[in-house]
Amino acid sequence: MTFAALGLSDELVRAVTERGYTEPTPIQAQAIPAVLSGGDLLAGAQTGTGKTAGFTLPILQRLTASAKHTIGKAPIRALVLIPTRELAAQVEESVRDYGKYLKLNSMTMIGGVNINPQINRLKSRVDILVATPGRLLDHLQQKTVDLSHVEILVLDEADRMLDMGFIRDIKKILAVLPRQRQNLLFSATFSAEIKLLADGLLNKPAMIEVARQNATAELITQKVYPVDRERKRELLAHLIKERNWFQVLVFTRTKHGANRLAEQLDKDGISSLAIHGNKSQAARTRALAEFKTGKLQVLVATDIAARGIDIIELPHVVNFELPNVPEDYVHRIGRTGRAGSEGEASSLVCVDEHKLLNDIERLTKNEIPVVQIPGFEPDPRIKAEPILNGQNRGQGGGRGQGRSQPGSRAGGGAGRGGAAGKPAARAPALHRSGGRGR
Ligand code: AMP
Repeated sequence: MTFAALGLSDELVRAVTERGYTEPTPIQAQAIPAVLSGGDLLAGAQTGTGKTAGFTLPILQRLTASAKHTIGKAPIRALVLIPTRELAAQVEESVRDYGKYLKLNSMTMIGGVNINPQINRLKSRVDILVATPGRLLDHLQQKTVDLSHVEILVLDEADRMLDMGFIRDIKKILAVLPRQRQNLLFSATFSAEIKLLADGLLNKPAMIEVARQNATAELITQKVYPVDRERKRELLAHLIKERNWFQVLVFTRTKHGANRLAEQLDKDGISSLAIHGNKSQAARTRALAEFKTGKLQVLVATDIAARGIDIIELPHVVNFELPNVPEDYVHRIGRTGRAGSEGEASSLVCVDEHKLLNDIERLTKNEIPVVQIPGFEPDPRIKAEPILNGQNRGQGGGRGQGRSQPGSRAGGGAGRGGAAGKPAARAPALHRSGGRGR
């Protein structure tokens, strides 16, 4: 299968070839003809599947084919709504790159930066607008953007959009769009809420799904490293140094935890920065750029900030803390092993997190191999503590001795794990529950 065989124009085929793509990914093979046909689309696809090109390429082609010879300022004809700023910037960069041999103009519209340059930019031609919902709404309220000629709407990462509370903003935006338009909805998961949104939005959509829902990619090697909660940082530094890991994306549960871990790793001589919602856009962009070029060894991120980070062949993802929601595990490790390259996802798991681990294994229908690093065996006297509202005290706190532990795992007597650095077949240190009632 080639891109040309999907019906894409020479200009687009040339652009993707120059980008090094030799053949379409499965989502592209399905989405491109569906979008070219002009109908609505409901696509189940995670980041990493090549979905961005899956909608961008046919949109560029359709807008070119029906180019209107407007004199003066042309209207915005395609609107791509994206949940996070980084992802929006990356998608718009892809639009520009894929469309470099075409005469279409695109713009990123995101929060966290001065609105005035955006207002100025909107005075000139914008065919494709890639926006985060909050800032787009600001522009609508100030009447600095006109969406009355939008022909194609894309809701990308719709599940994440709802998770982030954008549903009201989205509804307000939908209300100002022309009724007659093509709608494309992409989502990694399909909750009842997403189905409701899709039902209201899409008209007889083509439905495509790649990579079974909630399945973890086969190219990703997953491992669990048992360790005490206070020794996670030490173990992480050990793994990074011993194994010479570069481009490590580390997930923490909280912004504060991300900051603290990045600072501590930096002190350990491992160049690290944190990215999360409290950082300025400039700081986030800089951190991401340094990480991409390899200048920065470790990027510590919260789930929301990491969403959509697009780095080809990101080799290592580390769950410094397991996510509270098992689906987030799938999103997190989806950062590695993308579009055909192999990746490694490592989870540092302390006694507090056994239930979370069980939930993840149940969701992914996969038992993750356990590797016990010698010298980091969990102390069996340490009891599980509750993870409060995602505010895990993480490493370095040293407080809270002897607190009770609702929901903790039964039995304290964790034995020492497997043999040195080898997968411990049924690691006693982890005390897996056998999955009952969890
Ligand atoms: P996405 O899921 O859109 O975020 O894309 C994931 C990654 O795959 C990005 O780094 C793309 O540049 C890359 N990619 C997309 N399509 C292809 C393709 N057909 N061949 C190789 N890599 C691709």
